[in-house]
Amino acid sequence: MIEMDCTCVQKHHSIPTEIIEVSDHAIKKVADILKDYRRVFMVADENTYEVAGKRVEELLKNAGILSHSLILPAPALPNAENVGKVLMEAGRDRDVYDINAWSLNPDYILAVGSGSLNDTCRMVSYRLGIPYGVVGTAPSMDGYASVVAPLLNGRKKIVYNCSIARHIIIDLSVNEQAPYPLLLAGVGDILGKYVAILDWEISRDRNGEYYCEKIADMVLQATAQCVEASKNLESRDPAAIRAASEGLILSGECIAFCGSSRPASGTEHMIAQTWEVMDVEEGKVPNLHGVEVGEGTFTAVEMFRRLYKETDDAHLKALIEKYLPAFDRLEELQKTLRLPFTVTDKQRFIEGVLRGRTFRDRYTVLQYLYDIGKLEDYAESAYDAVMEKHFFGTFKERFPDWRA
Ligand SMILES: [Zn+2]
Ligand SMILES: [Zn+2]
Repeated sequence: MIEMDCTCVQKHHSIPTEIIEVSDHAIKKVADILKDYRRVFMVADENTYEVAGKRVEELLKNAGILSHSLILPAPALPNAENVGKVLMEAGRDRDVYDINAWSLNPDYILAVGSGSLNDTCRMVSYRLGIPYGVVGTAPSMDGYASVVAPLLNGRKKIVYNCSIARHIIIDLSVNEQAPYPLLLAGVGDILGKYVAILDWEISRDRNGEYYCEKIADMVLQATAQCVEASKNLESRDPAAIRAASEGLILSGECIAFCGSSRPASGTEHMIAQTWEVMDVEEGKVPNLHGVEVGEGTFTAVEMFRRLYKETDDAHLKALIEKYLPAFDRLEELQKTLRLPFTVTDKQRFIEGVLRGRTFRDRYTVLQYLYDIGKLEDYAESAYDAVMEKHFFGTFKERFPDWRA
């Protein structure tokens, strides 16, 4: 269990995860970290097997704790089909059929991958009541320590409650080799944190919502560190990749400490996740989560900038003002990073903003603008501003071969 004393009303935060190992060559420690288990079932896809799975498998085999492995075709989407495959392959027939054997199940499931494989294995772990852990392969999102699995089920994306990873192993030397689109997605997921915390502050002051200053400060600090380092992401500066990896892990930890994604997900996520759901409803493969969060972030920033100019509410104005220097830094970074966007159609963009308000039961500036009757107007002006100031091309144009 990971614990932290706090100054907030909760006084104390804890996460049932036993170990979060983020270091160079963390993979080498895998057998030692899992030494209490005897039958580890490893799940990877063809890509993650190449970059890390093969080595993990070898180490577990040498330690005598590997039950068996499943390598899914790449890229393995977090969908019902893959959950089914992992579930079916989790048990392993014994060489001699024993009618008295209680279960064929392994005693641990180890995902080797990033968001998709982690979510798939988390679901199976929870359904079978078997602990699981993850060896990360890319700093592409902050969901390693999440307790939910958003899974594709037909033309729906359903968020299932699950258990948290018992061990999170992040090998920085593996992350340094991650494909560039995944690195961009990871940074996109972090850029949104300023907006998320500002939304949280607004809700604290308007609705009396619980707020933890220590957690908020931790997230803001990790974000600032990552924004600074990301200027050198394109040259694959190891320091930039490390800052992104550490920032994402810290943000995931904060979500777990808080017991909800409030510190890491606000307006920008609700808009991005709506765009994603719209794709799923149309039977399309969703875009990278963090890339859409990046576009959602600049959308929210433009709405906050306009609100700052127009509002008569002095308290709200002061709250937004605190974040203006951070917004400036985001915009400055975008000029160097040129994070590609996915939604360029005006109608689709606006639908994401309007539907995003009720994507989940969470008070954000979208609800504030709706209540004063200005959400549609702000959505329109945000589109114009985002396309004029922050758009440097679409994801498809920049990475035509990604997940062809
Ligand atoms: Zn606290
Ligand atoms: Zn996210």
